[in-house]
Parts: sequence; C-alpha cells; structure tokens
Amino acid sequence: MNTAWIFEQLDIISSIGESVEGGQNRLAFSENDMKAREFLKHLINQIGLEYREDTFGNIFALYNTGSENQIVATGSHIDTVPNGGRYDGTLGVITSLAAIKEIKENKENIRHPLELIVFQAEESSRFGHSTMGSKIISGKLENFVQWEQSRDNDGISLVQAMKDTGYNFYDINKSVIEKDRYKYFLELHIDQSKTLMNANVPVAVVDGIAAPLRVRVTIFGEAAHSGSTAMRDRKDALVIASELILAIRNISLAYDERQAVATVGKIDIFPNAINVVPGTAVMYVDIRGIHAKTIEELFGLIRAESSKIALRYKASSEIELLSSEKPCALNNIVTDTIEQSCIDLNIPYIHTISGAGHDTMNMAELAECGMIFVRNVSGISHHKNESILNEDIEKGALVLHDALLKLSR
Ligand SMILES: [Zn+2]
Repeated sequence: MNTAWIFEQLDIISSIGESVEGGQNRLAFSENDMKAREFLKHLINQIGLEYREDTFGNIFALYNTGSENQIVATGSHIDTVPNGGRYDGTLGVITSLAAIKEIKENKENIRHPLELIVFQAEESSRFGHSTMGSKIISGKLENFVQWEQSRDNDGISLVQAMKDTGYNFYDINKSVIEKDRYKYFLELHIDQSKTLMNANVPVAVVDGIAAPLRVRVTIFGEAAHSGSTAMRDRKDALVIASELILAIRNISLAYDERQAVATVGKIDIFPNAINVVPGTAVMYVDIRGIHAKTIEELFGLIRAESSKIALRYKASSEIELLSSEKPCALNNIVTDTIEQSCIDLNIPYIHTISGAGHDTMNMAELAECGMIFVRNVSGISHHKNESILNEDIEKGALVLHDALLKLSR
C-alpha cells in the first residue's frame, strides 16, 4: 500500500479551506469545496480512471475490468463542518482511491467493477440537511420543498448555491440510481467517539448505524406561589421531570450501549420564574439504537415511566413522537469480510456501532453495506483537533483494500 501517496493527498486536500488554526472549512458548494472537488477529479484522471458527476455534484470514478455488472463501491465525503477536522470523510475518500489505484496497478483479477463515490453535502452544517448526496441517489429524498427553501447563515439558498457552482437544483431527481447497479458498498471513516481509543485498537468493524427516535414529554403540574404553597401540596412539574430524567437514565443503563441509549438534551419549564412552582415542563428525549425493535421497546418503557411518575404526584403527562428514523443494520457478508481482512492482515479490531449518521445509511437502499472505523486518538470529531496516527491510517487502508478485493473477486 502506497501510504506516502495517501498522506500526500490528505495534506493537499486539507490545505484547501484550512484556517490559520488548522480547522477545515469546506462547506458544501462553497468555493473551497469546489476547489477540493476539482483536485479530486484531477487525481482520478491521474490514476487513469474516468469519472462522471451527477446533477447534485456527487462524483463517481469507475474502474471497470469486471465481467459481471454489479459494482462494488467505496467512498465518503469531503465537505466539512465549519472548522472541522482533517479526516472526517476525507480519509474515506482518499483511502478508497488509494485502494482502487493499488488494485488497478497490480492488475488484480476481479470480477466486479470497482467505483469510488464522493458524496456531496454529507454535513448538515450549511443547509440543515445531512447526507444529501446519498439521499438523492438512493431515492430517499422526501422533503424536496424543505430542501428548496433551505438557506445558509448568510441567507443563500441551496438553489442559489447550486446555481452559483454550476448545478441545477431542479434536476436533482434525475440522479436517482437504479436498485441493481451496486452489489456492495464500503465506507471507511474516522471513529467519531472514544470507543477505539479506549479499546486500544486501530480499526473496528461497524455492525450498525444508530438512528434517533425523538419524543416530547410534557408534564402538566400546577403553577403555584413558591412561598405560600406547602411542599406536600405541590405538583411541581420540574421535580416530576427530574425524577423522569433519572428514570430514563436508569432504564437505558440496563441496555448495552451497542443496543440503545437515551438522552434528555433539552427542557423548557413554565412559567420559569424564581418565585413560582413550575407548572409545566416540556422535555425532549432522543433515543438511539441500531435495532428498531430495541428503540421501540425503550420508548415504551419511557412512556410507561412518565405516566407512572406523574401519577404519583397527582399530575399528568403527555408523550408525543416527533420523529423516527430507521436504524441501519449492516450486512453480515460485508461485516464478516471486513473481519476476515483484519484477521488475515493480523490487525487487532473490535466490533462497534456508529452513533453518528453516515452516507452508508442511504447506500443501504442500493447495496449490501459495511463500514470500517479507524481509531481517533483525539477522541473528538467535527473539531480541528481531530487526529489519527499515520500507522492507523495505513492499517485502515490495508483493511479497506483487502476487503474490496475479497468482495470484488
Ligand atoms: Zn463524515
């Protein structure tokens, strides 16, 4: 594996849109994003591959020697959050390209064509919608009107930003890809948690991508004078909410973290005044897991607990479902292949799940998917300090290369 080549390309891409402090700024459809994409196209040509770009700016570079039609694809994104890290997305793109380059140069005998996909607008930072490019190609774009109306912080609409960079928003639906084009899809990504760092392993086989179910719980207590209302006569909505928050924590602790987690991240109380016993508390719960059934189960337990606690205070509660996304279990054949590559290469690994969303979730509509995580030695992501060891990059790239070979033979 030509790791020097990988480091060199990572350096070049990272220099595009880099702030003085080292943060990466390649927001989707920005000038820097376009510059980096131009560089990638040049790199693809240099390797002797042809590329096509769809109506949204997703880039596809095909290496076709296969006798069978179904493509084995690999890739990630190069757009970033403001002041993002060097590796989020970009590492997957460059290692994918390096793997295909290696397979091409070694004239490996493969049955399926290989393809690099560089997704556009994975990050939601600019227009508020995530994994846009992969949603489009997989036919998962549902909120066309919301996308059409979305604007960035400077008031520039997605429609305008696309127009300014040579794309037509009203053509995006032309980029949906037919269901039988891909056989497998693999994404290598930097770990966006401390999991691999804590486990002290360079890579991980990802078993699934968690998705959030979000609910709003409203506690109806009774607002009252904070001085004249006896403690035993109170229906303090915030006290009830506090008990519920602790109950949610205890219920979730009983679940393996790989299965599900739940968080109360936001709470509003009314009237929110120092001399009034809180009458109403509105809390927002985010429940995540990799199996829809487990998420539902946890949701059910939280629902039961909220009415039970409210009842104890002679108050009432209401729970509303705000949104429910489908978690993505990754394909066994692909995860087993990645695992076998780690074993064959003698690279230590663990199994993990992804708490963050990725383009792979959408690609699962088009192909059997798998993900490889590479250790993040900073333990943080979406931050300029995101960091990774060169030797881990090499190990990740080797696993990706080997798994692609195995899957395309
Ligand atoms: Zn990413």
